[in-house]
Amino acid sequence: MKSLSSTYKNEVLIAGKDYPRTYREFITMFPDDKSCREFLYKLRGNNNFVCLKCKALSIPCKQTHKRLVCPKYRHQITVTTGTIFDKTRISLTTWLEAAWHITTAKNGMSAKTIEQTLGISYNTAWTMLQRFRVAMIGSQRKKLTGKIEVDETQVGCVDIGVKRGRGSKKSLVVIAIESHEPKAFGRIRMRCIPDASTNSLTNFIQDIAHSDSTIYTDGWSGYNKLVSLGYKHEINIMSNSKD
Ligand SMILES: [Zn+2]
Repeated sequence: MKSLSSTYKNEVLIAGKDYPRTYREFITMFPDDKSCREFLYKLRGNNNFVCLKCKALSIPCKQTHKRLVCPKYRHQITVTTGTIFDKTRISLTTWLEAAWHITTAKNGMSAKTIEQTLGISYNTAWTMLQRFRVAMIGSQRKKLTGKIEVDETQVGCVDIGVKRGRGSKKSLVVIAIESHEPKAFGRIRMRCIPDASTNSLTNFIQDIAHSDSTIYTDGWSGYNKLVSLGYKHEINIMSNSKD
């Protein structure tokens, strides 16, 4: 929810009061569209309100719970203007319920599961999921830092008779994961690359990893340029046998 987090800078949200901790609390807090709208109003209508039209930072005039009004030029926006909920026929109750399920599902959620869980059409579920995914990526995301493990994997069906490894016909995906001590993972970046060449791999790493990072890879020669580009490079020989 890109617009929600960015507008709620100085307030401390209290779990169980300002946002639900459990699905039971979720149902109690958001029984209908009115409660969802009031929740969004509260998030956007605080001291950090930025008018989307004149960009002025102010406390909005509270005309109704459906519109926020900038005191300077009387510009009016709805509580959903500029958010992923804007300009859809989907009810806010459905949006927030989808948000709950998507953000709490341990292994992610498919459009099919959302369709079945919320009793909505597949197209609606798919549309919502796409909007959530775009919003969760964030347009200004920073590069990964610290210890970063990088490896490639092949994605696609099994091709009988086609050679395996880095030269096969399947799609090749390079994955980078921040490694946090002692046994946790941070952010992840992925990219579909045409081949496992030095060019493809180092371009990816330069795009996603801060230059003071330590990159952990296997012994593949495609990673050999990393030190000359300013990265610290640790090679794990144990995983060099996959080809
Ligand atoms: Zn304005």
